Amino acid sequence: MTHLDDSTICARGGWSDDFVTRPSNPPIYQTTAFDVDGLEQLEDLSSGAQHGYIYTRDGNPNHAAFAADVAALERADAGAVTASGMAAISSILLGYLKTGDHVVASRVLYGRTYQLLNDLHRAFGIEVTFADANDVADMRRALRPSTKLCVIESISNPLVEVVDLPGIVSAMGEVPVVVDNTFATPCLLRPIELGASIVFHSASKYLNGHGDVMLGVVAGNQQALTKVRRVAALYGFNANPLECWLASRGLRTLPLRMERVSANALRLAEFLNEHSAVSRVFYPGLPTQASHELAKTLLTKGFGGMLSFELKNDSGVRPLFKALSHTLPFSPTLADARTTLSYPAGTSHKFMAAEERRAYGISDGLIRVSVGLEDPTDVMREFDAALRGA
Ligand SMILES: *Cc1c(COP(=O)(O)O)cnc(C)c1O
Repeated sequence: MTHLDDSTICARGGWSDDFVTRPSNPPIYQTTAFDVDGLEQLEDLSSGAQHGYIYTRDGNPNHAAFAADVAALERADAGAVTASGMAAISSILLGYLKTGDHVVASRVLYGRTYQLLNDLHRAFGIEVTFADANDVADMRRALRPSTKLCVIESISNPLVEVVDLPGIVSAMGEVPVVVDNTFATPCLLRPIELGASIVFHSASKYLNGHGDVMLGVVAGNQQALTKVRRVAALYGFNANPLECWLASRGLRTLPLRMERVSANALRLAEFLNEHSAVSRVFYPGLPTQASHELAKTLLTKGFGGMLSFELKNDSGVRPLFKALSHTLPFSPTLADARTTLSYPAGTSHKFMAAEERRAYGISDGLIRVSVGLEDPTDVMREFDAALRGA
């Protein structure tokens, strides 16, 4: 199978063979169900002998169009959409695990993913060992005979460390490695090419990229996707057609946006690194980052749009957010077209005890930046003015 370049996949995206007329842009199949010609056709559709749709919970052309584009970008055989990134990881976990099974997971996962694994432990007796994803030996030590999945993020939140994916895949042996690729996107890193079994995204973030959608997507081989689709349809984790249509539209500019946010974030990281009010900057593109060498080999097209920095003085945090609230606002999401800020100790990692947070390097002075598409000199000027006040 020949693969098209990312920009070709994106520029031509949003289509499915099921669009039988030729409007210049894909239609939205905003419908609950699809009329069936008769009972023979119903049987053929149900058995898969004929391709088509019956009920939007089980499938819809807008789902298929977005999922196929993401699968192509991730170099996966198949894809499926879900109502959110959390529905994506829920579908994977519920599709693969049963009571007594064991999961090896990164210790610094997206806060809700960490909570979900703990919840599955409490409710259903699924065992989890949290290990250091930046230490392959620690991940290997966590393996048990009952380990059924490994769950990691390609770039961690909020310290933006890149994981040694080939190292982890080899340490896990036969255990499928599930990668949350939300921060990197397939434009910068393709986990499946590095040996991962399943990739998922919060498409609410970069894939859509305009801050107006809640959507998740999973990509992997046919066998993996059969498990995921079954759970998504049965438990009702299905996406809505309009969200898929919007995300298909957003996806068209993904390569351009990732190039731009990577360039802007590198400039901002270098600027903050020199600033007298800042004690430390975390960005994969900085030589001071622990995973910088790994990032150079894995992220060949840019280091992404996420960075974090630490204020020298914790008491400057509140005035800084206040001063920037109308230019670089606090927003508990990421990957909008504009630059937004977040406060890990107060939002995504609030559920951790203070000592636990500090042990992971998430200090009370740490601010996370999702770098947007603005002119970087405007953003640096705004940061500079606010940092002087802080
Ligand atoms: C936002 C996010 C999620 C959850 O996705 P939702 O679409 O908000 O449910 C999962 N992982 C990462 C890294 C995220 O940033």
